[in-house]
Amino acid sequence: MDLVEFQGKQLFGRNGVPVPPPGTACRTVEEAVAAAEGYLGGGADAVMVKAQVKTGGRGKAGGVKYAPSIDAVREHAEAIIGLDIKGHTVNVVYIEPASDIAEEYYLSVMHDRVNKGHLVICSKEGGVEIEEVNRTNPEAVVKRQLTPNETADGLPLETARAIIDEARFPDDVAADAADLLVALFDAYRNEDATLAEINPLIKTGSAPGADPSGAGRVIALDAKVTLDGNAAFRHDGYDEWKIDGIDADDPLEAEAKSKGIQYVKLDGSVGVLGNGAGLVMATLDVVAQNGGRAANFLDVGGGASADAMAESLGLVLKDPAVKSVFINIFGGITRGEEVANGIIEATERLGEFPQKLVVRLDGTNAEEGRRILNEADLPSVVAAATMQEAATTAVQLASEA
Ligand code: GDP
Ligand code: MG
Repeated sequence: MDLVEFQGKQLFGRNGVPVPPPGTACRTVEEAVAAAEGYLGGGADAVMVKAQVKTGGRGKAGGVKYAPSIDAVREHAEAIIGLDIKGHTVNVVYIEPASDIAEEYYLSVMHDRVNKGHLVICSKEGGVEIEEVNRTNPEAVVKRQLTPNETADGLPLETARAIIDEARFPDDVAADAADLLVALFDAYRNEDATLAEINPLIKTGSAPGADPSGAGRVIALDAKVTLDGNAAFRHDGYDEWKIDGIDADDPLEAEAKSKGIQYVKLDGSVGVLGNGAGLVMATLDVVAQNGGRAANFLDVGGGASADAMAESLGLVLKDPAVKSVFINIFGGITRGEEVANGIIEATERLGEFPQKLVVRLDGTNAEEGRRILNEADLPSVVAAATMQEAATTAVQLASEA
């Protein structure tokens, strides 16, 4: 589960990571103006107007603006609310007293799946994308792998100090940055995050007003946090972070989620429906190898009933980008005749639809399933003997449609 920036900062703050003074999440220009009036009237020099969407690069896309006056807040809020940032519509802006920036650094902790541990990445070249720094100036990026054993009681302060030293942080901020890194690691561990990234981590400047406690502090100006869905049971389902419509899901993904169906929207034209994550991934590969692109994929899971099959197919066909559907089922717990009956039931329920369904059925009771489908003689169903044949057929049908 991804958090938006202001939630990430809340999560940081309660774990001891220094953050800017709290701001206000707003859904309308009027709310943004009212919040800004409070901060500007209360002594802040300026506020930031920041798009709250679950993607990075908001600044570059025009979603992060400095506003020294109410007029500027109004102008920026009007431009940012409703803005599209990499396919995410901005529904919420965060109004926060602006910080005065002297320097920008980078700091993150994440799961390192390859090394089965944690990875700290640290650089005194922050603000821009870390991949860019890594490419142009790799010596400036310090990466430290940590085993779970080394961090059983959190990140040791001496390890944090060594990382900050190696990254050559300026002397006047090094001690604070090391303390902050320890706190960042606590946030990551306590909250079961898989990613806790600060870019930029800043040293505050000396402009009056913006930062009441003065210059030279190290604070997290941005926050990118991903929480581990598998740990949700330890955190009351992460309910505290669920906010309506902050960054609207694809409507079909939202419908799937509400029905407990595993469905992911992609950008091609072949609908993919299979049983089991592995088979579904292999299906995406074979579609790609045959020159096609999947429009989505849906995993009907093990033991899918006729009813679940009908529900799932209905969902895939609702996507207007779907020009053909590749149904790839390997019967294990799911039996072939159930799948066949599900497809028949689905087509009856859905009435007429223009797309062809290319069906590859194998495994438990596959022959029985194929026989049932054959006898039903549905105009929309094309039987395929192998996965390869199904892929070429589905890709060809999609390109002709
Ligand atoms: P991102 O573009 O999505 O990573 O959004 P950020 O929160 O990192 O903001 C982008 C850039 O806007 C930062 O790198 C800063 O340069 C600038 N910025 C963000 N907040 C402030 C602030 O409080 N004061 C000032 N002066 N600049 C800010
Ligand atoms: Mg950033």
